[in-house]
Amino acid sequence: MLGNMMFQPLLISSLIEHAARYHGDTPVISKNTDGTITKTDWTHISENAKRLANALRGLGLNSADRVATIAWNNHRHLEAWYAISGSGMVCHTINPRLFPEQLIFIINDAQDRVVLFDKTFLPLIKGVKAHTPNVEHFIYLGAFDQDVADAIPEVKFYDALIAENSADFDWPEIDELSASSLCYTSGTTGNPKGALYTHRSTILHTYAISLPDSLNLSSRDIMLPVVPMFHVNAWGTPYAAAMVGATMVLPGPGLDGASLVQLIDEFKVTVALGVPTIWQGLLTAAKQAGSKLDSLKRNIVGGSACPPAMMATFKNDYDCETIHAWGMTETSPLGSSNQLKAKHATLSEQDRFKVRLSQGRPPFGVNLRITDQENGTHELERDGHTTGNLQIKGHWIINQYLGKSSSALTSDGWFDTGDIASLDQDGYLTLSDRSKDLIKSGGEWISSVELENIAMGHPQIAMAAAIAAHHPKWDERPVIIAIKAPDSEITEQALLDYFADKVAKWQIPDKVIFVDSIPLTGTGKMLKRDLREQFGNVLLS
Ligand code: ADP
Repeated sequence: MLGNMMFQPLLISSLIEHAARYHGDTPVISKNTDGTITKTDWTHISENAKRLANALRGLGLNSADRVATIAWNNHRHLEAWYAISGSGMVCHTINPRLFPEQLIFIINDAQDRVVLFDKTFLPLIKGVKAHTPNVEHFIYLGAFDQDVADAIPEVKFYDALIAENSADFDWPEIDELSASSLCYTSGTTGNPKGALYTHRSTILHTYAISLPDSLNLSSRDIMLPVVPMFHVNAWGTPYAAAMVGATMVLPGPGLDGASLVQLIDEFKVTVALGVPTIWQGLLTAAKQAGSKLDSLKRNIVGGSACPPAMMATFKNDYDCETIHAWGMTETSPLGSSNQLKAKHATLSEQDRFKVRLSQGRPPFGVNLRITDQENGTHELERDGHTTGNLQIKGHWIINQYLGKSSSALTSDGWFDTGDIASLDQDGYLTLSDRSKDLIKSGGEWISSVELENIAMGHPQIAMAAAIAAHHPKWDERPVIIAIKAPDSEITEQALLDYFADKVAKWQIPDKVIFVDSIPLTGTGKMLKRDLREQFGNVLLS
Protein backbone atom coordinates (compact mmCIF):
# COMPACT_ATOMS: atom_id res chain seq x y z
CA MET A 1 0.00 0.00 0.00
CA LEU A 2 1.33 3.43 -0.89
CA GLY A 3 1.23 6.27 1.62
CA ASN A 4 -0.82 9.41 1.18
CA MET A 5 1.74 12.18 1.25
CA MET A 6 2.58 14.64 -1.51
CA PHE A 7 5.34 13.84 -3.92
CA GLN A 8 7.55 16.66 -5.10
CA PRO A 9 10.68 15.96 -7.09
CA LEU A 10 13.87 17.08 -5.32
CA LEU A 11 15.05 19.88 -7.62
CA ILE A 12 17.81 22.47 -7.46
CA SER A 13 15.34 25.16 -8.58
CA SER A 14 13.50 24.68 -5.27
CA LEU A 15 16.63 25.84 -3.42
CA ILE A 16 16.78 29.22 -5.13
CA GLU A 17 13.00 29.61 -4.88
CA HIS A 18 13.22 28.98 -1.14
CA ALA A 19 16.14 31.37 -0.67
CA ALA A 20 14.40 34.14 -2.63
CA ARG A 21 11.09 33.71 -0.80
CA TYR A 22 12.28 33.29 2.79
CA HIS A 23 15.74 34.83 2.80
CA GLY A 24 15.38 37.37 0.02
CA ASP A 25 17.18 40.21 1.79
CA THR A 26 20.03 38.01 3.05
CA PRO A 27 23.23 39.34 1.49
CA VAL A 28 25.41 37.73 -1.12
CA ILE A 29 28.72 39.58 -1.20
CA SER A 30 30.93 38.99 -4.16
CA LYS A 31 34.46 39.98 -5.00
CA ASN A 32 34.62 40.54 -8.72
CA THR A 33 37.43 39.54 -11.01
CA ASP A 34 38.56 43.19 -11.18
CA GLY A 35 38.74 43.34 -7.37
CA THR A 36 35.60 45.45 -6.82
CA ILE A 37 32.91 44.23 -4.42
CA THR A 38 29.28 43.67 -5.42
CA LYS A 39 26.64 43.46 -2.69
CA THR A 40 23.52 41.68 -3.77
CA ASP A 41 21.04 39.32 -2.09
CA TRP A 42 19.12 36.10 -2.69
CA THR A 43 16.19 37.98 -4.29
CA HIS A 44 18.45 39.42 -6.96
CA ILE A 45 20.43 36.20 -7.42
CA SER A 46 17.11 34.48 -8.10
CA GLU A 47 15.87 37.18 -10.49
CA ASN A 48 19.07 37.17 -12.48
CA ALA A 49 19.08 33.38 -12.59
CA LYS A 50 15.64 33.57 -14.22
CA ARG A 51 16.82 36.24 -16.64
CA LEU A 52 19.74 34.07 -17.68
CA ALA A 53 17.46 31.04 -17.98
CA ASN A 54 15.35 33.06 -20.45
CA ALA A 55 18.51 34.12 -22.29
CA LEU A 56 19.71 30.52 -22.62
CA ARG A 57 16.32 29.43 -23.93
CA GLY A 58 16.54 32.33 -26.38
CA LEU A 59 19.84 30.95 -27.63
CA GLY A 60 18.05 27.72 -28.49
CA LEU A 61 19.23 25.63 -25.56
CA ASN A 62 17.10 22.82 -24.24
CA SER A 63 16.87 20.55 -21.22
CA ALA A 64 19.90 18.34 -20.74
CA ASP A 65 22.18 20.57 -22.83
CA ARG A 66 25.56 21.10 -21.21
CA VAL A 67 26.52 24.65 -20.30
CA ALA A 68 30.05 25.14 -18.99
CA THR A 69 31.46 27.74 -16.62
CA ILE A 70 35.11 28.70 -16.19
CA ALA A 71 34.86 31.16 -13.36
CA TRP A 72 35.83 32.19 -9.84
CA ASN A 73 33.42 32.15 -6.94
CA ASN A 74 31.35 35.27 -7.64
CA HIS A 75 27.71 36.34 -7.89
CA ARG A 76 27.40 35.95 -11.66
CA HIS A 77 28.72 32.42 -11.41
CA LEU A 78 26.19 31.69 -8.66
CA GLU A 79 23.34 33.08 -10.77
CA ALA A 80 24.51 31.04 -13.73
CA TRP A 81 24.55 27.85 -11.64
CA TYR A 82 20.93 28.24 -10.66
CA ALA A 83 19.89 29.35 -14.17
CA ILE A 84 21.51 26.35 -15.82
CA SER A 85 20.56 23.54 -13.43
CA GLY A 86 17.24 25.13 -12.49
CA SER A 87 16.10 25.17 -16.09
CA GLY A 88 17.01 21.52 -16.60
CA MET A 89 20.37 21.98 -18.30
CA VAL A 90 23.61 20.56 -16.96
CA CYS A 91 26.06 22.95 -15.33
CA HIS A 92 29.56 21.81 -16.21
CA THR A 93 32.04 23.55 -13.93
CA ILE A 94 35.50 23.56 -15.46
CA ASN A 95 38.69 23.72 -13.45
CA PRO A 96 40.78 26.37 -15.22
CA ARG A 97 43.97 24.98 -13.75
CA LEU A 98 43.78 21.86 -15.89
CA PHE A 99 46.27 21.63 -18.73
CA PRO A 100 44.88 23.07 -22.01
CA GLU A 101 44.77 19.57 -23.57
CA GLN A 102 42.68 18.34 -20.65
CA LEU A 103 40.41 21.36 -20.93
CA ILE A 104 39.83 20.68 -24.60
CA PHE A 105 39.23 17.04 -23.81
CA ILE A 106 36.55 17.70 -21.21
CA ILE A 107 34.73 20.42 -23.17
CA ASN A 108 34.46 17.99 -26.07
CA ASP A 109 33.71 14.98 -23.88
CA ALA A 110 30.88 16.87 -22.17
CA GLN A 111 29.67 18.29 -25.52
CA ASP A 112 29.30 21.74 -24.00
CA ARG A 113 27.16 24.05 -26.17
CA VAL A 114 27.89 27.23 -24.23
CA VAL A 115 30.87 28.38 -22.17
CA LEU A 116 30.58 31.21 -19.64
CA PHE A 117 33.90 32.67 -18.49
CA ASP A 118 35.57 35.28 -16.30
CA LYS A 119 38.09 37.74 -17.68
CA THR A 120 41.02 35.94 -16.03
CA PHE A 121 40.40 33.03 -18.36
CA LEU A 122 40.20 34.97 -21.63
CA PRO A 123 43.65 33.78 -22.77
CA LEU A 124 42.63 30.21 -21.97
CA ILE A 125 39.41 30.53 -23.98
CA LYS A 126 41.33 32.02 -26.89
CA GLY A 127 43.70 29.06 -26.78
CA VAL A 128 41.12 26.28 -26.70
CA LYS A 129 38.41 27.83 -28.89
CA ALA A 130 39.67 26.45 -32.19
CA HIS A 131 39.63 22.93 -30.75
CA THR A 132 36.10 22.89 -29.34
CA PRO A 133 33.79 22.92 -32.35
CA ASN A 134 30.69 21.96 -30.31
CA VAL A 135 30.68 25.23 -28.41
CA GLU A 136 28.17 27.56 -30.10
CA HIS A 137 28.27 30.50 -27.68
CA PHE A 138 30.83 32.11 -25.44
CA ILE A 139 29.40 34.34 -22.73
CA TYR A 140 31.67 36.73 -20.90
CA LEU A 141 30.69 37.06 -17.23
CA GLY A 142 30.64 40.85 -17.07
CA ALA A 143 29.70 44.09 -18.80
CA PHE A 144 30.86 45.00 -22.31
CA ASP A 145 34.65 44.86 -22.53
CA GLN A 146 36.58 45.91 -25.62
CA ASP A 147 39.49 43.48 -25.00
CA VAL A 148 37.09 40.59 -24.83
CA ALA A 149 35.19 41.71 -27.93
CA ASP A 150 38.48 42.05 -29.82
CA ALA A 151 39.64 38.60 -28.78
CA ILE A 152 36.34 36.78 -29.43
CA PRO A 153 34.25 38.77 -31.90
CA GLU A 154 31.12 36.62 -31.52
CA VAL A 155 31.16 36.79 -27.69
CA LYS A 156 28.00 37.69 -25.75
CA PHE A 157 28.08 39.79 -22.61
CA TYR A 158 26.40 38.44 -19.49
CA ASP A 159 25.30 41.83 -18.17
CA ALA A 160 23.67 42.68 -21.50
CA LEU A 161 21.82 39.35 -21.56
CA ILE A 162 20.57 40.01 -18.03
CA ALA A 163 19.42 43.51 -18.96
CA GLU A 164 17.59 42.30 -22.08
CA ASN A 165 15.73 39.37 -20.52
CA SER A 166 12.72 39.17 -18.24
CA ALA A 167 12.84 37.80 -14.71
CA ASP A 168 9.62 35.92 -15.43
CA PHE A 169 10.49 32.28 -15.73
CA ASP A 170 8.81 29.19 -14.38
CA TRP A 171 11.33 26.56 -13.39
CA PRO A 172 10.33 23.35 -15.17
CA GLU A 173 9.22 20.38 -13.07
CA ILE A 174 11.63 17.73 -14.26
CA ASP A 175 12.51 14.23 -13.12
CA GLU A 176 14.59 14.42 -9.93
CA LEU A 177 16.95 11.85 -11.42
CA SER A 178 17.85 14.25 -14.27
CA ALA A 179 21.47 15.33 -14.50
CA SER A 180 22.07 18.69 -12.84
CA SER A 181 25.79 19.30 -12.88
CA LEU A 182 29.01 17.81 -14.07
CA CYS A 183 32.46 17.86 -12.57
CA TYR A 184 35.57 16.11 -13.82
CA THR A 185 38.09 14.43 -11.56
CA SER A 186 41.47 16.06 -11.82
CA GLY A 187 42.86 13.14 -13.79
CA THR A 188 46.18 12.65 -12.08
CA THR A 189 46.32 9.46 -14.13
CA GLY A 190 44.90 9.39 -17.66
CA ASN A 191 42.14 11.64 -18.93
CA PRO A 192 39.78 13.30 -16.45
CA LYS A 193 36.53 11.42 -15.88
CA GLY A 194 33.13 13.06 -15.49
CA ALA A 195 30.96 12.72 -12.38
CA LEU A 196 27.41 13.61 -13.36
CA TYR A 197 25.29 14.59 -10.35
CA THR A 198 21.50 14.42 -10.26
CA HIS A 199 19.03 16.90 -8.77
CA ARG A 200 18.07 14.28 -6.22
CA SER A 201 21.64 13.46 -5.20
CA THR A 202 22.40 17.17 -4.88
CA ILE A 203 19.41 17.96 -2.67
CA LEU A 204 20.02 14.98 -0.38
CA HIS A 205 23.70 15.92 -0.14
CA THR A 206 22.70 19.50 0.66
CA TYR A 207 20.52 18.38 3.58
CA ALA A 208 23.31 16.14 4.84
CA ILE A 209 26.10 18.72 4.76
CA SER A 210 23.96 21.29 6.57
CA LEU A 211 23.29 19.07 9.61
CA PRO A 212 24.80 20.01 12.99
CA ASP A 213 27.08 16.98 12.92
CA SER A 214 28.26 17.90 9.42
CA LEU A 215 29.06 21.55 8.70
CA ASN A 216 26.38 22.85 11.09
CA LEU A 217 25.06 25.54 8.74
CA SER A 218 22.24 27.97 9.46
CA SER A 219 20.69 31.28 8.46
CA ARG A 220 22.89 32.90 11.12
CA ASP A 221 26.02 31.95 9.23
CA ILE A 222 28.12 34.16 7.02
CA MET A 223 29.81 31.63 4.82
CA LEU A 224 33.04 32.00 2.86
CA PRO A 225 33.62 29.14 0.45
CA VAL A 226 37.27 29.45 -0.50
CA VAL A 227 37.03 26.07 -2.17
CA PRO A 228 36.26 26.93 -5.79
CA MET A 229 32.88 26.38 -7.39
CA PHE A 230 34.78 24.44 -10.06
CA HIS A 231 36.04 21.97 -7.45
CA VAL A 232 33.22 19.54 -6.61
CA ASN A 233 30.67 22.37 -6.58
CA ALA A 234 32.52 24.26 -3.83
CA TRP A 235 31.72 21.21 -1.69
CA GLY A 236 28.02 21.96 -2.17
CA THR A 237 28.08 25.21 -0.18
CA PRO A 238 26.23 27.39 -2.72
CA TYR A 239 23.32 24.94 -2.50
CA ALA A 240 23.48 24.69 1.29
CA ALA A 241 23.60 28.48 1.68
CA ALA A 242 20.34 28.73 -0.28
CA MET A 243 18.76 25.88 1.66
CA VAL A 244 19.50 27.37 5.09
CA GLY A 245 19.43 31.03 4.03
CA ALA A 246 23.02 31.84 4.93
CA THR A 247 24.87 34.96 3.85
CA MET A 248 27.52 34.19 1.27
CA VAL A 249 30.86 35.90 0.85
CA LEU A 250 32.31 34.88 -2.49
CA PRO A 251 36.06 35.55 -2.66
CA GLY A 252 36.50 35.85 -6.44
CA PRO A 253 40.10 35.40 -7.57
CA GLY A 254 41.69 36.50 -4.28
CA LEU A 255 42.55 33.21 -2.62
CA ASP A 256 45.75 34.50 -1.00
CA GLY A 257 45.88 34.76 2.79
CA ALA A 258 45.85 38.57 2.96
CA SER A 259 42.73 38.88 0.78
CA LEU A 260 40.94 36.26 2.84
CA VAL A 261 41.82 37.89 6.17
CA GLN A 262 40.41 41.14 4.83
CA LEU A 263 37.15 39.51 3.70
CA ILE A 264 36.72 37.62 6.98
CA ASP A 265 37.26 40.74 9.08
CA GLU A 266 35.25 43.13 6.92
CA PHE A 267 32.21 40.92 6.40
CA LYS A 268 32.32 39.08 9.76
CA VAL A 269 32.57 35.64 8.22
CA THR A 270 31.54 32.89 10.68
CA VAL A 271 32.42 29.79 8.67
CA ALA A 272 34.98 29.27 5.91
CA LEU A 273 35.86 26.23 3.82
CA GLY A 274 39.02 25.23 2.00
CA VAL A 275 41.99 22.91 1.56
CA PRO A 276 44.96 22.96 3.98
CA THR A 277 47.21 25.03 1.69
CA ILE A 278 44.62 27.82 1.81
CA TRP A 279 44.63 27.80 5.62
CA GLN A 280 48.40 27.80 5.71
CA GLY A 281 48.30 31.05 3.73
CA LEU A 282 45.54 32.48 5.89
CA LEU A 283 47.34 31.79 9.17
CA THR A 284 50.55 33.42 7.95
CA ALA A 285 48.63 36.46 6.70
CA ALA A 286 46.52 36.78 9.88
CA LYS A 287 49.68 36.79 11.98
CA GLN A 288 51.31 39.41 9.78
CA ALA A 289 48.21 41.61 9.81
CA GLY A 290 47.73 41.16 13.57
CA SER A 291 44.16 39.95 12.97
CA LYS A 292 42.51 37.62 15.48
CA LEU A 293 39.86 36.57 12.92
CA ASP A 294 37.33 37.44 15.64
CA SER A 295 34.17 36.51 13.76
CA LEU A 296 35.41 33.12 12.50
CA LYS A 297 33.79 30.37 14.57
CA ARG A 298 34.74 27.38 12.45
CA ASN A 299 36.64 26.39 9.38
CA ILE A 300 36.16 23.25 7.36
CA VAL A 301 39.27 21.53 6.10
CA GLY A 302 39.21 18.82 3.47
CA GLY A 303 40.76 17.73 0.22
CA SER A 304 44.00 16.72 1.98
CA ALA A 305 44.73 15.74 5.55
CA CYS A 306 44.53 18.58 8.03
CA PRO A 307 47.92 18.84 9.80
CA PRO A 308 47.38 18.60 13.59
CA ALA A 309 49.52 21.67 14.17
CA MET A 310 47.16 23.70 11.99
CA MET A 311 44.10 22.54 13.90
CA ALA A 312 45.80 23.42 17.19
CA THR A 313 46.74 26.91 15.96
CA PHE A 314 43.17 27.65 14.87
CA LYS A 315 41.88 26.57 18.25
CA ASN A 316 44.51 28.06 20.53
CA ASP A 317 45.30 31.30 18.73
CA TYR A 318 42.00 32.08 17.02
CA ASP A 319 39.36 30.26 19.07
CA CYS A 320 38.19 28.72 15.80
CA GLU A 321 36.93 25.14 15.68
CA THR A 322 38.33 23.15 12.78
CA ILE A 323 36.05 20.56 11.24
CA HIS A 324 38.00 17.95 9.37
CA ALA A 325 36.05 16.44 6.48
CA TRP A 326 36.74 13.89 3.80
CA GLY A 327 35.30 13.43 0.35
CA MET A 328 35.98 13.34 -3.33
CA THR A 329 34.51 14.41 -6.67
CA GLU A 330 32.80 11.04 -6.99
CA THR A 331 31.08 11.48 -3.60
CA SER A 332 29.56 14.97 -4.17
CA PRO A 333 31.86 15.35 -2.04
CA LEU A 334 30.90 14.82 1.61
CA GLY A 335 31.70 11.32 2.87
CA SER A 336 32.52 12.15 6.48
CA SER A 337 33.00 15.08 8.81
CA ASN A 338 34.35 15.35 12.28
CA GLN A 339 32.11 16.37 15.14
CA LEU A 340 32.29 14.90 18.62
CA LYS A 341 29.65 12.71 20.23
CA ALA A 342 28.12 13.18 23.68
CA LYS A 343 30.32 10.42 25.10
CA HIS A 344 33.45 12.38 24.21
CA ALA A 345 32.58 15.11 26.70
CA THR A 346 34.24 13.17 29.51
CA LEU A 347 37.54 12.75 27.66
CA SER A 348 40.55 14.86 28.50
CA GLU A 349 41.15 17.78 26.18
CA GLN A 350 44.09 15.95 24.69
CA ASP A 351 42.02 12.85 23.90
CA ARG A 352 39.23 14.95 22.42
CA PHE A 353 41.78 16.62 20.20
CA LYS A 354 42.90 13.17 19.04
CA VAL A 355 39.33 12.26 18.05
CA ARG A 356 38.99 15.54 16.14
CA LEU A 357 42.07 14.84 14.05
CA SER A 358 40.46 11.97 12.17
CA GLN A 359 38.45 12.58 9.02
CA GLY A 360 35.23 12.09 11.00
CA ARG A 361 32.23 9.85 10.53
CA PRO A 362 29.65 9.53 7.75
CA PRO A 363 26.38 11.47 7.90
CA PHE A 364 23.09 9.61 7.41
CA GLY A 365 22.83 8.80 3.71
CA VAL A 366 26.26 7.27 3.15
CA ASN A 367 27.96 4.15 4.42
CA LEU A 368 31.67 3.42 4.68
CA ARG A 369 33.59 0.15 4.87
CA ILE A 370 37.17 -0.99 4.52
CA THR A 371 38.11 -4.11 2.63
CA ASP A 372 41.18 -6.24 2.11
CA GLN A 373 43.55 -5.21 -0.62
CA GLU A 374 43.41 -8.50 -2.53
CA ASN A 375 39.81 -9.14 -3.53
CA GLY A 376 38.41 -5.77 -2.48
CA THR A 377 35.01 -6.95 -1.22
CA HIS A 378 35.91 -8.73 2.00
CA GLU A 379 35.12 -6.33 4.83
CA LEU A 380 37.76 -5.75 7.52
CA GLU A 381 37.38 -5.02 11.23
CA ARG A 382 36.21 -1.62 12.39
CA ASP A 383 38.73 -1.58 15.20
CA GLY A 384 40.32 1.82 14.70
CA HIS A 385 43.66 0.48 13.47
CA THR A 386 43.23 -2.17 10.75
CA THR A 387 43.65 -0.42 7.41
CA GLY A 388 42.20 -1.36 4.05
CA ASN A 389 40.59 -0.03 0.88
CA LEU A 390 38.06 2.63 1.76
CA GLN A 391 34.73 2.04 0.01
CA ILE A 392 31.55 4.08 0.10
CA LYS A 393 27.90 3.66 -0.84
CA GLY A 394 24.98 6.07 -0.64
CA HIS A 395 22.52 8.53 -2.16
CA TRP A 396 25.13 10.94 -3.54
CA ILE A 397 27.85 8.51 -4.60
CA ILE A 398 28.78 7.93 -8.25
CA ASN A 399 27.45 4.91 -10.08
CA GLN A 400 29.34 5.25 -13.33
CA TYR A 401 31.44 7.88 -15.05
CA LEU A 402 30.01 10.02 -17.85
CA GLY A 403 29.99 8.21 -21.15
CA LYS A 404 31.27 4.93 -19.70
CA SER A 405 29.06 1.92 -20.14
CA SER A 406 30.56 -0.07 -17.30
CA SER A 407 29.78 0.47 -13.64
CA ALA A 408 32.36 2.21 -11.44
CA LEU A 409 31.42 -0.06 -8.54
CA THR A 410 32.67 -3.29 -7.01
CA SER A 411 30.79 -6.50 -7.77
CA ASP A 412 28.71 -5.93 -4.62
CA GLY A 413 27.86 -2.31 -5.35
CA TRP A 414 30.37 -0.15 -3.45
CA PHE A 415 32.58 2.61 -4.84
CA ASP A 416 36.27 2.04 -4.13
CA THR A 417 37.81 5.42 -3.32
CA GLY A 418 41.46 4.57 -3.89
CA ASP A 419 42.16 5.69 -0.33
CA ILE A 420 43.61 3.53 2.41
CA ALA A 421 41.99 4.01 5.78
CA SER A 422 40.84 2.59 9.10
CA LEU A 423 37.39 2.90 10.69
CA ASP A 424 36.52 2.62 14.35
CA GLN A 425 33.29 1.31 15.83
CA ASP A 426 31.61 4.71 15.68
CA GLY A 427 32.62 5.05 12.04
CA TYR A 428 35.41 7.60 12.62
CA LEU A 429 37.58 7.40 9.56
CA THR A 430 41.34 7.81 9.61
CA LEU A 431 42.94 8.08 6.21
CA SER A 432 46.46 6.76 6.05
CA ASP A 433 47.06 7.61 2.42
CA ARG A 434 45.99 7.48 -1.16
CA SER A 435 47.00 4.05 -2.35
CA LYS A 436 49.33 5.57 -4.94
CA ASP A 437 51.13 7.79 -2.40
CA LEU A 438 51.90 5.07 0.15
CA ILE A 439 55.59 4.41 0.62
CA LYS A 440 56.57 0.75 0.49
CA SER A 441 59.79 0.15 2.36
CA GLY A 442 61.08 -3.41 2.50
CA GLY A 443 57.56 -4.79 2.17
CA GLU A 444 56.14 -2.53 4.92
CA TRP A 445 53.86 0.42 4.23
CA ILE A 446 54.63 3.90 5.52
CA SER A 447 51.97 6.59 5.46
CA SER A 448 53.16 9.71 3.64
CA VAL A 449 50.41 11.70 5.36
CA GLU A 450 51.71 10.83 8.81
CA LEU A 451 55.25 11.92 7.95
CA GLU A 452 53.98 15.16 6.42
CA ASN A 453 51.90 15.94 9.48
CA ILE A 454 54.94 15.53 11.69
CA ALA A 455 57.15 17.68 9.46
CA MET A 456 54.50 20.40 9.29
CA GLY A 457 54.20 20.28 13.05
CA HIS A 458 57.75 21.66 13.28
CA PRO A 459 57.44 25.39 13.88
CA GLN A 460 60.17 26.14 11.34
CA ILE A 461 58.52 24.30 8.46
CA ALA A 462 55.93 26.02 6.29
CA MET A 463 54.96 23.09 4.07
CA ALA A 464 56.17 19.54 3.57
CA ALA A 465 55.49 16.55 1.33
CA ALA A 466 56.65 13.01 1.96
CA ILE A 467 57.31 10.96 -1.15
CA ALA A 468 58.57 7.51 -1.98
CA ALA A 469 62.08 7.59 -3.44
CA HIS A 470 63.57 4.51 -5.11
CA HIS A 471 66.03 2.69 -2.92
CA PRO A 472 68.50 -0.03 -4.00
CA LYS A 473 67.89 -2.17 -0.93
CA TRP A 474 64.44 -1.29 0.48
CA ASP A 475 62.69 -0.67 -2.84
CA GLU A 476 61.28 2.65 -1.58
CA ARG A 477 62.22 4.96 1.27
CA PRO A 478 60.57 8.18 2.48
CA VAL A 479 62.07 11.53 1.50
CA ILE A 480 60.74 14.85 2.76
CA ILE A 481 60.46 17.81 0.42
CA ALA A 482 60.00 20.88 2.61
CA ILE A 483 59.63 24.64 2.49
CA LYS A 484 61.18 26.44 5.45
CA ALA A 485 59.13 28.99 7.38
CA PRO A 486 60.20 32.61 6.73
CA ASP A 487 63.63 33.39 8.31
CA SER A 488 64.12 29.78 9.43
CA GLU A 489 67.64 28.33 9.42
CA ILE A 490 66.54 24.76 10.14
CA THR A 491 68.93 22.04 8.92
CA GLU A 492 68.21 18.67 7.38
CA GLN A 493 69.52 16.88 10.46
CA ALA A 494 67.40 18.97 12.84
CA LEU A 495 64.23 18.03 10.95
CA LEU A 496 65.20 14.34 10.82
CA ASP A 497 65.90 14.41 14.58
CA TYR A 498 62.43 15.81 15.10
CA PHE A 499 60.97 12.51 13.85
CA ALA A 500 62.94 10.41 16.37
CA ASP A 501 60.33 10.16 19.14
CA LYS A 502 57.33 10.36 16.83
CA VAL A 503 57.57 7.33 14.51
CA ALA A 504 59.26 3.93 14.54
CA LYS A 505 62.94 4.17 13.66
CA TRP A 506 62.53 2.48 10.27
CA GLN A 507 59.89 5.06 9.31
CA ILE A 508 62.17 8.06 9.82
CA PRO A 509 62.77 9.59 6.40
CA ASP A 510 66.15 9.07 4.72
CA LYS A 511 66.54 12.60 3.51
CA VAL A 512 65.14 16.11 3.58
CA ILE A 513 65.31 18.37 0.56
CA PHE A 514 64.52 22.04 1.11
CA VAL A 515 62.82 23.81 -1.78
CA ASP A 516 61.31 27.26 -2.40
CA SER A 517 57.99 25.96 -3.65
CA ILE A 518 56.02 22.74 -3.97
CA PRO A 519 53.88 22.26 -7.09
CA LEU A 520 50.14 22.16 -6.36
CA THR A 521 47.34 20.45 -8.25
CA GLY A 522 44.49 22.45 -9.72
CA THR A 523 42.69 21.98 -6.43
CA GLY A 524 45.53 23.13 -4.18
CA LYS A 525 46.92 19.75 -3.19
CA MET A 526 50.61 18.96 -3.24
CA LEU A 527 51.43 17.37 -6.58
CA LYS A 528 53.34 14.39 -5.27
CA ARG A 529 53.53 12.74 -8.67
CA ASP A 530 55.66 15.65 -9.93
CA LEU A 531 57.78 15.53 -6.80
CA ARG A 532 58.33 11.81 -7.31
CA GLU A 533 59.43 12.48 -10.89
CA GLN A 534 61.81 15.20 -9.77
CA PHE A 535 63.23 13.65 -6.61
CA GLY A 536 62.38 9.96 -6.93
CA ASN A 537 65.97 8.97 -7.70
CA VAL A 538 67.85 11.02 -5.08
CA LEU A 539 68.68 7.94 -3.02
CA LEU A 540 70.12 6.00 -5.95
CA SER A 541 73.24 8.06 -6.58
P1 ADP B 1 41.58 14.86 -6.94
O1 ADP B 1 42.48 14.99 -5.74
O2 ADP B 1 41.89 13.70 -7.81
O3 ADP B 1 41.30 16.14 -7.59
P2 ADP B 1 39.29 15.01 -5.36
O4 ADP B 1 39.40 16.46 -5.30
O5 ADP B 1 38.00 14.38 -5.59
O6 ADP B 1 40.18 14.42 -6.42
O7 ADP B 1 40.03 14.46 -4.09
C1 ADP B 1 39.66 13.29 -3.44
C2 ADP B 1 40.79 12.75 -2.64
O8 ADP B 1 41.36 13.74 -1.79
C3 ADP B 1 40.37 11.67 -1.70
O9 ADP B 1 40.24 10.45 -2.37
C4 ADP B 1 41.49 11.68 -0.68
O10 ADP B 1 42.62 10.98 -1.14
C5 ADP B 1 41.86 13.13 -0.61
N1 ADP B 1 41.22 13.74 0.55
C6 ADP B 1 40.06 14.40 0.62
N2 ADP B 1 39.81 14.83 1.86
C7 ADP B 1 40.83 14.41 2.63
C8 ADP B 1 41.16 14.53 4.02
N3 ADP B 1 40.40 15.17 4.88
N4 ADP B 1 42.30 13.94 4.44
C9 ADP B 1 43.10 13.29 3.59
N5 ADP B 1 42.86 13.17 2.28
C10 ADP B 1 41.74 13.71 1.80
